Amino acid sequence: MKALFELGQEVVCVDAKCNRPHLIPVPLVEGNYYRITAMRVCSCGQVTVDVGIKSITQFGCCPKCSMRVEQFGSWWFNQSRFAPIDHIKEIEKLKESLTITEHAIQKEASYN
Ligand SMILES: [Zn+2]
Repeated sequence: MKALFELGQEVVCVDAKCNRPHLIPVPLVEGNYYRITAMRVCSCGQVTVDVGIKSITQFGCCPKCSMRVEQFGSWWFNQSRFAPIDHIKEIEKLKESLTITEHAIQKEASYN
């Protein structure tokens, strides 16, 4: 799996669901912005990212192959939990232009 982000990139959380209900809830909020402070790749190819949230356990496990991994003080998240902010901004811009087009159509319609 390829890394989706670059170090230092600002991202938005798009998935804060807990995949394993018996574990502690995921300390992320969907829609909140985070910054990628570190990344690592598991031997299975899974990319996980550190967004500056401290881990409360010494070991975690890979979200893909479940291999036990040292946390080194950080909580490592599957990169698929995040999306680039630029992407979101583009969608918002697109929505905005759609609204403007709608207004324009409405205006035109009112002349008829
Ligand atoms: Zn793995």
